[in-house]
Amino acid sequence: KDSFSNSAVNIRKIQRPQNADGKQSRIADYFASNVFDLRAMVKRLSSQDLDVMAKVMKLGGKIDAHLAERIAAAAREWAMEMGATHYCHWFQPQTGATAEKHDAFLWFDKQGNPIERFTGPELLQSEPDASSFPSGGIRSTFEARGYTGWDPSSPMFIMETENGKTLYIPSVFISYHGDALDFKTPLLRSNKALSEEAVKTLHFLGEKKVHYVSTSVGPEQEFFIVDKELARKRIDLKFSGRTVFGRRPPKGQELEDHYFGQIPSRVQAFFNELEVELYKLGVPIKTRHNEVAPGQFEIAPIFESSNISADHNQLAMKYIKSIAIKHGFIALMHEKPFAGVNGSGKHVNWSMQDSTGRNLLDPGATPHENLVFLTFLCSVLLGIHDNADVLRASIATAGNDHRLGANEAPPAIISAFLGNTLDKILNSLESGSGDIINAEKIMIDLGISHLQGVAKDNTDRNRTSPFAFTGNKFEFRAVGSSASISYPTAILNAAVCDGLSKINKRLEARAQNGRVSDNIILRVLKDVIKETKKIRFEGNGYSQEWLDEAKQRGLSNFPMTPDSLAVLADEKKIQFLIQANIFTSEDIASRLAIQQERYIKQSLIEINCALEMAQTQVMPVCLNYLEKLMDNVKLAKELSIPSPAIKFAEEFGKEFNHFFSALNSLKLQYDKISNEECYEHSKLNSTAVFIGQHILPKLVELRNTVDLLEGIVPHNLWPYPKYSELLFGI
Ligand code: ADP
Ligand code: MG
Repeated sequence: KDSFSNSAVNIRKIQRPQNADGKQSRIADYFASNVFDLRAMVKRLSSQDLDVMAKVMKLGGKIDAHLAERIAAAAREWAMEMGATHYCHWFQPQTGATAEKHDAFLWFDKQGNPIERFTGPELLQSEPDASSFPSGGIRSTFEARGYTGWDPSSPMFIMETENGKTLYIPSVFISYHGDALDFKTPLLRSNKALSEEAVKTLHFLGEKKVHYVSTSVGPEQEFFIVDKELARKRIDLKFSGRTVFGRRPPKGQELEDHYFGQIPSRVQAFFNELEVELYKLGVPIKTRHNEVAPGQFEIAPIFESSNISADHNQLAMKYIKSIAIKHGFIALMHEKPFAGVNGSGKHVNWSMQDSTGRNLLDPGATPHENLVFLTFLCSVLLGIHDNADVLRASIATAGNDHRLGANEAPPAIISAFLGNTLDKILNSLESGSGDIINAEKIMIDLGISHLQGVAKDNTDRNRTSPFAFTGNKFEFRAVGSSASISYPTAILNAAVCDGLSKINKRLEARAQNGRVSDNIILRVLKDVIKETKKIRFEGNGYSQEWLDEAKQRGLSNFPMTPDSLAVLADEKKIQFLIQANIFTSEDIASRLAIQQERYIKQSLIEINCALEMAQTQVMPVCLNYLEKLMDNVKLAKELSIPSPAIKFAEEFGKEFNHFFSALNSLKLQYDKISNEECYEHSKLNSTAVFIGQHILPKLVELRNTVDLLEGIVPHNLWPYPKYSELLFGI
C-alpha cells in the first residue's frame, strides 16, 4: 500500500512472461509472438512465396489464388499450433470501433469426417451483411452487400482471451460497387496515391532510384482512468462516456502535479498487463506517463507505417478498455469526459519515408538533401493550405467539439507551426530577390546548407498548434482521442498528395529530360511559400488575438461539427479526394451522412442521460432536502426561535426553481426533434444544426444549475459520485 493507491482495492498483480528458468523473459523474446509475420512464415512457406509476401507487405499488391491457398494453409497450421480454433476478418466500419465475425476452422471431408480447414478464398474474402453498419441512409437494404477483403500489408495475429484464441485477419470493407465502407480502405488508397506523386517529385529532383514512398505514423493516445465502482454509479459515464454534470472539485489540475508524476501503483499494474498483451501482438508501445489532468494518462508507440500503426492503435484502444476493467477501472476514451480539466487527444505524428529508408521530412546535411526536404515541406504546406476545411471535417465529432478551441487543445482553425528556424528560412526564401536564383548560393546565404539547426526548435514546441512541425515530422494534434486514426491520416495523406501533384505539374512544365534544375525548384517553392503563407502561424493558438487574426487572414474557423461537416457537400473542396481515387462522390455523401448521424445520436444520448439524471436523481434529492429545510423552519416557528434555515430554504428554493426551469426548457427543445423523422436523410443536416445551436446550450444551462445544487445539498445525499471522487479516486 502506498499513498498513491486506493487502499480499499486489491492491486491485480501481473507477472511479466517468464522463461524456462523461471526468470522474467526479455521483451524481445515475446514481442510479436502472436503475429503471423515474416518470422513466423519462414518455417512454413517457400522462399519464393516469402519474397512475394515480403514485397506485398511493404508495397501492397495482389496475391494470386494459388499463393493465397498456401498462405491460408500455413496460417491455419500456425494458428492451430498456438491454440486457435477460429478465424475472422477484422475490419473498421465507420463506428470508430472494429468489427469481426468468427468462423471455426471446422469442415467435413468427402466421407463426412470432421476436419480442420481454412482455404485461400476464405482468407481472401468474406461477405458480412453490410446493412447493419452505418451507411448514412445512402444505400438501401437490398443493395447492402458488403465484402471484407484481406489486407496482406498488415499481418494476421492471434487474439487471446481467457476464453479462447482466434486468428484475426486485418481486412478492408467495401461495397459490391467498390465504395469504401470503412476507414481502412481510404487509408490504403491514400498511401498509394501519395506514393505515386511523391516518387514523381523525387524523380524531378534527380532521385531516380526511389520507387515508392510510404507514410509513417506514431499516435500518442491519451485517456482517463476512473474507478469502476464509482463510474458505474453514473448514468452519463456509462452511456455517453462523458460526465454531463459535475461540479468542479476544490482542486483540479492547477498545481500541475499530475503531469509526468509517479504513476499510481494500481495504474502501473494495469500498464504492465496492457504492455505485455500489446507486445505479444507486435504493438511497439514505448512510452507511458501521467498526463496533465488528474486521472489522465498517455501511451505512445514507436512509429510504424501508417496502415499498421492504424491497426495497432485500434488494438491499443481495445486493450486499454478491456484490461482497465480487469484492474477495477473504466478507461474513458472520450475527448472531454470532465469539464474544467483537460480533454484527451490523439497526436498523430506523421512523416514520409522513401524506399531507401530516408525520412523526407528530415532536414539533411547537404544543399541537395535540403532541397528535397524543402520541396516536401512545401508540398505539405500546400496540401494543408488548399484542403484545410476537409482536414478539419475529418476530425469533427461531438466529443472533439468540447476540446478544440477550449483553451487546452488546438483551435478548430487549421494552421501550421514550423518553428523559428524554418519560419525564418521560408521567409527569406520568399523575399529573395530576382528571377535568377542560384540554389547553392541561396542555401549557403540562408545558412541552411546545414538545416540541422531545425532540430533545436524541437525543444521549443508550440503546443497550441493543430499541426506542428517537430524536427522531422508533423504532429497533427487536433485528432480526438476516441477516433480511428485511419480516417484523418487518409485525409492528411490525400491533402499532401494534392500538394505534391500541384507542385509536380509546375515542375513538369519546366522539366528538361524529366529533370528540373535546383534554381527552378527554388523558384517554384518560392511561389508555394507565398501562396501558403496564411496558414503558417508561430504564435499562441489559444489566444483571442489568433482568432481575430485568423479571421483577417481569411482562414476558416468551424468550432462546431455540423458547420465543419458542410464542406463535404462542396464539390470543389472534395475534388482532391475523388481525383486521387480515394473516394467516389457517393462515398463522401454517405460519409457526410454517417458523421452527421453520429453527431446527432451521440448528442441525444447525452441529453437523455442528463434528463434522466436530472429528473430521477437530482430532483428527488433536492425535493427531499427542501422538505428537510421546511421542516426545520416549521419547527423553529413552533418553538418561536429564529432559524437560519428560513433564509437558506429561500435561497435553495430559488436555485431549485432555476434548475426546474432549465430542465423544462431542455425537455422542450429535445421534444422538438426527438422523433424518427430527425434521422431522415434530408433532415440530418438541419437536425444536427438545431442540436448544436439550440439544444446543447440548454444542456449547459441545466448543467450549471445542477452543479450549483451539488455545492449546496449535503454531500452524503448527493445521488452520484462527484468529480472529487472520480478524478482523485485511483
Ligand atoms: P512528444 O510527447 O514529445 O510529442 P512522444 O515520444 O510522446 O513525443 O511521441 C512521439 C511520437 O512520434 C512517437 O510515437 C514516435 O515514434 C513518433 N515519431 C517519431 N519519429 C517519427 C516519424 N519520423 N514519423 C512518424 N512518427 C514519428
Ligand atoms: Mg507525448
